[in-house]
Amino acid sequence: MHSGKFTKIIATLGPSSSDEKVIKELITSGVNLFRFNLKHADMAWHVRHIKKVREVSEKLGISTGIIIDIRGPECVVSIPSASEIKLKKNDLLRVCVVNSECSGEKDILLSPDEIPGLIDDGDVLVVDDGKIELRAERSEKGLFLKAAETGVLKTGKGVSFTNKKISVPTINPQEKEVIKELIKMSPDFFALSFVRNHKDVENLSEFLLDNGSKAGIISKIETQEGIDDLDLIVGKSDGIMVARGDLGVEVSLEKITYYQKRIIEKCRASAKPVIVATQMLESMTTNPSPTRAEVSDISNAVRDGTDAVMLSGETAIGKYPVESVRFMHKIVSFNEKALRVPAALEFSEDRTFSIVKAAVDIIKSDNGRSLSKILVATETGKTARIFSSFRPEIPIIALTQNLDTLKKLGLSYGVLPNMIDFPEHGLVDVTEIAHILLKRGILSKGENIIVVHGKRWQDPGNTNSLYIFNVN
Ligand code: PEP
Repeated sequence: MHSGKFTKIIATLGPSSSDEKVIKELITSGVNLFRFNLKHADMAWHVRHIKKVREVSEKLGISTGIIIDIRGPECVVSIPSASEIKLKKNDLLRVCVVNSECSGEKDILLSPDEIPGLIDDGDVLVVDDGKIELRAERSEKGLFLKAAETGVLKTGKGVSFTNKKISVPTINPQEKEVIKELIKMSPDFFALSFVRNHKDVENLSEFLLDNGSKAGIISKIETQEGIDDLDLIVGKSDGIMVARGDLGVEVSLEKITYYQKRIIEKCRASAKPVIVATQMLESMTTNPSPTRAEVSDISNAVRDGTDAVMLSGETAIGKYPVESVRFMHKIVSFNEKALRVPAALEFSEDRTFSIVKAAVDIIKSDNGRSLSKILVATETGKTARIFSSFRPEIPIIALTQNLDTLKKLGLSYGVLPNMIDFPEHGLVDVTEIAHILLKRGILSKGENIIVVHGKRWQDPGNTNSLYIFNVN
């Protein structure tokens, strides 16, 4: 967490931001997590740049998280001969079955591999968040897609079907192999595109565990089916992304704001972190400053209670990646203070919730006079996430000895996760821990902090202590 900012910023890494100098500036300007989108670039590129981000973070002494965004059941277009095709109205694209068949300038591939076989004559395909519309024409010569309008078709863009649902597995065999390799990089999260229901989340979770990964799962909500099963998806996920690009195509544009608010409300009530993504500073892909509407969009996402905001093309391929992050930082840090977010939780029967609520009431009545930080011991992350859901005005130092919990907490509003070896004897006094945190520069002498933990520091589900401690 950067001083004065509680909302987490995610930047998508791409050609505009892959340089070490730019990564450094992005981190010092406020990026907390980097997203690697598997729809673009090959695995070697992703591995190389994950290492680069980690090296830069380490040199700066600022921890950043890694999110690997997987295609899941998403259909993606690729152009073997170029990075884009300029289309005129009624131009025909030929869909090849395998790469070796693609020889012409207007030959394309659709993945997963089974997709072309599922397309019928007359189907309408929408590409790149609605920018391109194509109509399928199937004949004995093969499968062709006719452009509805003039436009630029870019490789690696997502494809939606407006008239039917396509049934493909949660993760296709090719992507499974890629994920297995990337598990070796120990990412903090895998983001699953096009989550249709909680079974997709369970399938990914099982696959990750079978392959030795306990990385968090962020479910990207971008289909009507995903919205319809939202409660169970939130329950199974470690975070949710309001993926407005594809969501806008799938449910139609006028409904996006409504669903954004509903999804955020559900996540906050469940103490699960939520990300608002896509086109937040779209105009900054080419311009050095944002539109008023974009500023307003980010401010409103903060007021809705989002944990994180995300940049996609702005930082991946835009002309102003660092400026975009700087603007985003300024907008969120002003508005998280100016537009106070009310608490919205559903845990009232839970004892941990009651203790956290009591702590939050003390913080409120203190009103910034004396208390400067919250210190919470957490094994699963739940107590810290409940604190975060209340949007307290002081930072939450979440202490854990569980590396998976530490990584997952990096996405939650206002939470500064810290790894700690809890004392063996399970002391009930924070003195020993405070000394360690003083040495790390996380606490300062003279501060008054509010402390919440269980009888033994590391026991999950046993939160029973709340007190105020003077660091000395
Ligand atoms: C989106 O559709 O809004 C999104 C975040 O997904 P992607 O960038 O992978 O298309």
